[in-house]
Amino acid sequence: MDADPGTHPHPGTNIPAHSPTPTPTPTDVLVVGAGPTGLALANELLTAGVSAVLVDRLPRRSDLSKAGGVQPRTLEAFDQRGLLEPLLATGDHPTASGHFAGIPLPFAAHRLPWRSVPQVVIEGFFERHLAARGLHVRRAHELTGLTQDESGVTAAFANGAALRCRYLVAADGAHSTVRSLLGAAFPGEPGTSTTTAADVRLDGADAVASHTWNEDGHFAALFPLGTDDRGRPMRRLVLGGPGQSSLPRDTPVTEDDVRRGLSTVFGARVRLLELRYARRITNASRQAERYRHGRVFLAGDAAHVHLPLGAQGMNTGLQDAYNLGWKLGAAVHGWAPEGLLDTYHAERHPAGAAVLRNVRAQSLLMDWAGTRDPGVLAAREIFTELAQLPDVQRHLGGLMSGMALRYPMPDLDGGHPLTGRPVPDLDLGTTRTHELLRSGRGVLLDPDDAFAKAAEPWSDRVDVAGRGAATEPMLIRPDGYVCWAGTVGLEAALGHWFGDPR
Ligand SMILES: Cc1cc2nc3c(=O)[nH]c(=O)nc-3n(C[C@H](O)[C@H](O)[C@H](O)COP(=O)(O)OP(=O)(O)OC[C@H]3O[C@@H](n4cnc5c(N)ncnc54)[C@H](O)[C@@H]3O)c2cc1C
Repeated sequence: MDADPGTHPHPGTNIPAHSPTPTPTPTDVLVVGAGPTGLALANELLTAGVSAVLVDRLPRRSDLSKAGGVQPRTLEAFDQRGLLEPLLATGDHPTASGHFAGIPLPFAAHRLPWRSVPQVVIEGFFERHLAARGLHVRRAHELTGLTQDESGVTAAFANGAALRCRYLVAADGAHSTVRSLLGAAFPGEPGTSTTTAADVRLDGADAVASHTWNEDGHFAALFPLGTDDRGRPMRRLVLGGPGQSSLPRDTPVTEDDVRRGLSTVFGARVRLLELRYARRITNASRQAERYRHGRVFLAGDAAHVHLPLGAQGMNTGLQDAYNLGWKLGAAVHGWAPEGLLDTYHAERHPAGAAVLRNVRAQSLLMDWAGTRDPGVLAAREIFTELAQLPDVQRHLGGLMSGMALRYPMPDLDGGHPLTGRPVPDLDLGTTRTHELLRSGRGVLLDPDDAFAKAAEPWSDRVDVAGRGAATEPMLIRPDGYVCWAGTVGLEAALGHWFGDPR
């Protein structure tokens, strides 16, 4: 079976593998790992105006095909930084309808519906964007040791380099070296079965459903991956069921395996024209017990791993990055209120746990290993009936898209229903709320000019906007979440989220 990400390939504690040089180069934040989480976080740090170094052990960007889907909440976050249009301009990125465990869901319409944007495209886009902002990924930098003290963290690399930073973020993936060096608990379940994921060109795929099971419990799932350089549709194919599941993760996937899998499920209806890439994935499911370890933070797959069901892993990592970036910025600039950095764990750990929970439920309902257990089949039938109810569709749609997330926040405004939720993209006449967030600062919407004076002492951190707009007053954090709304308690909320008045 898979090398379980819960095991520690680097046993030991915070002992540098190389003695750091006496005067390592300093930076505000070191981000370890230039996958989607690390790249997005580095961009957030630049937006917050702090210095960041982003390292990756690979000498060049990986072209491994992993994530293919981007959820509405992540698309909103890109939009809030002005990155959505340029990202979508990189190629053909079709939308697709949602599903839960393969049960189709006509998700409640969102202004920005689910998009197919392959992870390699997102990584390349971010890397170019960062380079244009002056931040170049330091490649062939494998972190091998770290020590932390009261004022910062010292990192050591396999190439002999060393770096001193005020904070370090582990975005180094499922087998995180940083997590191992910290000895951080990563409880959960090891992988017990595998299945095949492949990027393919197919004949006949337009005529079949996105999820298909046969009588023996074999299944195939198909998602659009845009078009290749000759405009031909590519697809992500996932094949599972009995037999597949007992194969170790490192068993190679051949063209014959994929052909056989397709014909087992579809007969002669769907044919393989081209196999670009294939791998086996496991159902390991784990989450770090604590996302913060002093000055070191875990984010993305370093903090949570699960089956890629419903396009959630990369999206969850990107949301970790948006949550953490501005908070580290506040700490570096010296205005972070007491406890702000701890809210990263308080907000993102439950969000990660909710994803693991829905993936476990989906995995069971999909009968991932093809057991054909009558209890599972009955549960699936009943669930399919339930999924016809609009309220159930709304609930599941909110869960998968990231739009239902509500961060736990102190009640400073009398329990306003918007507080803790993503800000709606309101039309404010000359601008939209998402556009206002491009600065990476807080935003106070003050339609009646009733609060601008009270907010003045925070004007170096919070912009006031929306005069005359048809909205109620609200305070929005740089990550796009409402942290106060209504009429009472604004100054307490400003102090709570944006620190002492000037
Ligand atoms: C087949 C498949 C399909 C998927 N589909 C989806 C999907 O549709 N939607 C979705 O949201 N998610 C999906 N996922 C999950 C998604 O790919 C991951 O959640 C995502 O890659 C996590 O990003 P990350 O940046 O946290 O970690 P990673 O992408 O793993 O990046 C970690 C980086 O850290 C570097 N690194 C590791 N160790 C060190 C070290 N010691 N020093 C320096 N650098 C180091 C690595 O080289 C790597 O570049 C899928 C996954 C698979 C396998």
